Amino acid sequence: MPLPCLLVDHPRYQEHDTGGQHPENPSRVEAIRQRLSSGPLKDRLLAHEPAPASRAQCLAVHDESYLFRLEESCLMGLTAIDHPDNQIGYDSFEVALLAAGGGIAAIDLLERGETGVAFSLNRPPGHHAESDRALGFCLLNNVAIAARHWQSAYGRRRILILDWDAHHGNGIQNIFLNDPEVFYISLHEHPTFSFPGTGFAEENGQGPAQGLTLNIPLPPGAGDREALEALECLVSPALAAFKPQALLVAAGFDGHAADDMSGLLYSTGLYGRLGMMTKRWGQACDGRVVSILEGGYQLESLSASVEAYLLGLSDD
Ligand SMILES: [Zn+2]
Repeated sequence: MPLPCLLVDHPRYQEHDTGGQHPENPSRVEAIRQRLSSGPLKDRLLAHEPAPASRAQCLAVHDESYLFRLEESCLMGLTAIDHPDNQIGYDSFEVALLAAGGGIAAIDLLERGETGVAFSLNRPPGHHAESDRALGFCLLNNVAIAARHWQSAYGRRRILILDWDAHHGNGIQNIFLNDPEVFYISLHEHPTFSFPGTGFAEENGQGPAQGLTLNIPLPPGAGDREALEALECLVSPALAAFKPQALLVAAGFDGHAADDMSGLLYSTGLYGRLGMMTKRWGQACDGRVVSILEGGYQLESLSASVEAYLLGLSDD
């Protein structure tokens, strides 16, 4: 039997106002919702609304001074924080809390015994957000907040984070750089050619976490074959050595050939393969897999790729 899809989504994700001309805009989640609710997954969708992440859940990752600054910036009517890329509106702080709440809600569903593929359809994305600043359209680090929640609420201490957004997740890497309980693997376009300019293979963790960051940079023009080869030969040994208790996926879809945010040339079919591989890897941690939306800006390829990924994760 194919698994149901536990789709964590909130109508307020539309209310993070990035000004109208920005690639990270409300039509992204709307396109995905439309695609999922009219395609082969439509009878398998179980929708759940998340609660906002609590102050304490955010403080497990972010500095309190940054949380105040972000909230104030929104309420004061500023239109960006830390860089013009990071557009905000009056509601953006509350929506960012709901986005961080998406991964938390997905974890809670699995831990309370719900069966299915858990996917958080949140915006804004999170993997570039640092503990003390916004970056790359990201305000709060949704995946990092989810990892800390999994550890503190359920005692799943050993977390593997797999990030195949086209860009390196500098925020996730830095937050867990010295943490021996979180293994971060990122597949991305080479930082010489791509934002944010981090994610070289030499960056591999620090101190007690030496070796627990694995960066896999791909040259511009790399496609499905290069991505699959790299993941097949690197992720399985990492899983076997690290023995994670839970798997978080920073699921970005901007490596698609139709998405001009990167020079990678992935096909929609690659995301189906990633779903199948992720399902297999998740068996090493009793199926505790939560995927959290990151990038993906070309609406057709984004929505088709999310659907392909979820089908790969949920099908037999
Ligand atoms: Zn990206």
